[in-house]
Amino acid sequence: MLLRHTPETLADRSALTVNPAKTCQPVGAMYAALGIHNCLPHSHGSQGCCAYHRSALTRHYKDPIMATTSSFTEGASVFGGQANLLEAINNIFTIYGPDIVAVHTTCLSEVIGDDLGQIINKAIADGKIPKGKRVIHTNTPSFKGSHVTGFANMTQSMVHYLAENTGKRTGQINIIPGFVEPSDMAEIKRISSLMGVKSILFPDTSEVVNGPLDGRFHMYPKGGATVDQIRSAGDSAFTVSLGSTASLSAAKLLDTKCGIRFKDLELPIGISATDAFVDALRKAAGVSVPDSIMVERGQVVDVLTDNHQYFYGKKVALVGDPDQLVSLTQFLTDMDMKILYVVTGTPAGAKFEESIRGFTGPETIIKHGLGADLFYFHQLVKNNKPDLIFGNTYAKYIARDEDITLIRIGFPIYDRVGHQYFPVVGYRGAMRMMEKILNALLDRQDRDAPEQNFELIM
Ligand code: SF4
Repeated sequence: MLLRHTPETLADRSALTVNPAKTCQPVGAMYAALGIHNCLPHSHGSQGCCAYHRSALTRHYKDPIMATTSSFTEGASVFGGQANLLEAINNIFTIYGPDIVAVHTTCLSEVIGDDLGQIINKAIADGKIPKGKRVIHTNTPSFKGSHVTGFANMTQSMVHYLAENTGKRTGQINIIPGFVEPSDMAEIKRISSLMGVKSILFPDTSEVVNGPLDGRFHMYPKGGATVDQIRSAGDSAFTVSLGSTASLSAAKLLDTKCGIRFKDLELPIGISATDAFVDALRKAAGVSVPDSIMVERGQVVDVLTDNHQYFYGKKVALVGDPDQLVSLTQFLTDMDMKILYVVTGTPAGAKFEESIRGFTGPETIIKHGLGADLFYFHQLVKNNKPDLIFGNTYAKYIARDEDITLIRIGFPIYDRVGHQYFPVVGYRGAMRMMEKILNALLDRQDRDAPEQNFELIM
């Protein structure tokens, strides 16, 4: 109801965010940490931050998310959190027995200026980290960046702490999947395996946050890349990183630290981006593309061709995370849809704008970082109404107020299921996206059709 008062007149804002189109860094760092097998994410800050980050992930995945906290109170806020973290590390290994603890900071510990590298070294010197166990960290100040930045930072930290170049190159290919769903990570592995590529994917949250219900509680579910696998990433032949915002920094560090060349690609959402991914794997591993993948591709092209008339010229507005937005823009323009707006609250850099512009005309409005919030997005929508909005659950208020259909994609999705289990990447994912879009358009057509045009057959 309140959103109905959003004015149509646009005003430049550089120091005020209203209804942000992002969430905070530790959410992404915690999610990335869950992609290491037997890992306990640890939040170095107050309990409220950790509770929020866990609940955001729990509501999105409908699975309990395990994480611990340094539980700052007034004392830690004044004197720093070293004592809290040292005690936490001791307690975590004693009580919960993970293989690895992945620590991220919060706004409070960042403002205090806690030096986590030094604290972890002290924990090692004091014998608080059992033999064979690891503690890694990343800095995730939430007054800059977003959940995507936090995810990127934790992924980079995995390389920093764990990847090793032993001098013996293996033929395996590293795949850094970006901030995507566990279903997407599983699909990326499936494609790689169908192609006969020996790969290691990290982080890998498949079968961690979308594990099966078997009647027993698993503190550490079956999935995730093991510490040994991530260590061996330093000996791989090549890295394919997916999504520049979430994965490029880790790929670059693997290159400088371990000398592994990489190819930076967009997320494989849509036919063209999946083609690029499959081709990169083919070249990196020296394999050929099997018929089974060509069949999947052909089926997507078939559905697109059969239904092109429904996609053609439809106006769409996109809000979400930068890596998804770039690939989605390419996919939708490939389908001859017209992109009106692309908005992300994540500061995404010039490359983001360049990439989007490469697929769209000058008429598309692109905004990221400061002032790129849901309030601004709503104002744009009021000025020129799209046929469809693509966004996360928060966009549903705008969609309802403006009577526009919402296609849910991205993070978070609190009010629907499916994203945990059905991918949007790869040719299978492209098929799923097309089905969602097509059904939404046809449902709308049926709803609005006068009696004489209400057809049985589309
Ligand atoms: S204080 Fe900072 S880290 Fe904690 S929930 Fe708020 S934005 Fe996130």
